[in-house]
Amino acid sequence: MNKQIYDFDFPELSARVNSWGVPKYRAQQVWDGLYKNLWLAPEEFTNLSKELRGKMGELVEFNVLKPVDYRESKDGETLKTLFELHDGQHIETVLMKYDTEGRQPRRTVCISTQVGCGMGCTFCATGQMGFKRQLSSGEIVAQVIYFARKLQDAGETLTNVVVMGMGEPLHNYAATMEAIDRLNNPDGFAFGARRFTISTVGLVPLIKRFADEKRQVNLAISLHAAEDELRSSMLPINEKYPISNLLEVCRYYVEQTHRRITFEWALIEGVNDTPEQAHILARRVKGLLCHVNAIPLNPTQGFNGKGTGSERAKIFKETLEQAGVTCTIRAHRGIDIQAGCGQLASREK
Ligand code: SAH
Ligand code: SF4
Repeated sequence: MNKQIYDFDFPELSARVNSWGVPKYRAQQVWDGLYKNLWLAPEEFTNLSKELRGKMGELVEFNVLKPVDYRESKDGETLKTLFELHDGQHIETVLMKYDTEGRQPRRTVCISTQVGCGMGCTFCATGQMGFKRQLSSGEIVAQVIYFARKLQDAGETLTNVVVMGMGEPLHNYAATMEAIDRLNNPDGFAFGARRFTISTVGLVPLIKRFADEKRQVNLAISLHAAEDELRSSMLPINEKYPISNLLEVCRYYVEQTHRRITFEWALIEGVNDTPEQAHILARRVKGLLCHVNAIPLNPTQGFNGKGTGSERAKIFKETLEQAGVTCTIRAHRGIDIQAGCGQLASREK
């Protein structure tokens, strides 16, 4: 198979385009077409000769993502697309629109980094699929460009990227960071590092590496429980990296970057949503620059647990805040279109 277009960084793209015996500035035109104009197919590169467009289409693969299913939530605020990859595997990407009066509209795309996931979290539809394969950096980049272009065509602008779709991004570290760097390139798509958020299940050595690289990308940790026994029963990786190690590396991250860390908490009724759990959590993160994002569990077929209702969620939040930890309760998006992590792609199987 030809190399896929979004897998090239600029030096590689230049070398490739120059190898076709065209003037040097052509490579810049191709790059600008891809990352400034968001052109998706060779035909759109009208500043190139017909011959060069043909050659480009023949020698490089532009069809990285083939949309095969598309769902929009009833309120129109969540759009989910199921993509088929070159080898017939499927991933999903979700666009979320947030319009609050008096604020800039937010357009956030939630991207995948793997087909399936090997971390086996019991409540997660992607985890229930198991690990299939890593995505290339280009397959990650392509998801962002696809939606950026869709928004551009509608006169809107992408504002945020969250790496919270299928897969564990730190288990595909190199490709994920290459993708972010390619999208961040100031002479290209120029998407600011602070507009990305990576969510991880808590791979301690890689969080350490991420902290040492002092990236400006936001970091979210899927904590979900503040005691090892409970956390291990939900997130098997906790056996390897227990909460004390995880919180230690979180403290290191904050020291290195001076950035606030987010803890994610899927509220499961009667399991991790009690005031007692809130107290334990508050005690363990004391003094750490952090914020808790709690989301009622999105039901999945393979897990027998119920999302917490709004009354209990409110008590959880208040208990945390009284103990000095800020907390936001988020509504989960797009339940009517299976927009939870991995839910559409796993149904496809
Ligand atoms: N693998 C990474 C990122 C993808 S999952 C991680 O685990 O952080 C993105 C977020 O969705 C994680 O916080 C994950 O725990 C959460 N999640 C997965 N399944 C969920 C469900 N059924 N309901 C609510 N949140 C869920
Ligand atoms: Fe993988 Fe994240 Fe799902 Fe766990 S929650 S199985 S790490 S995608």
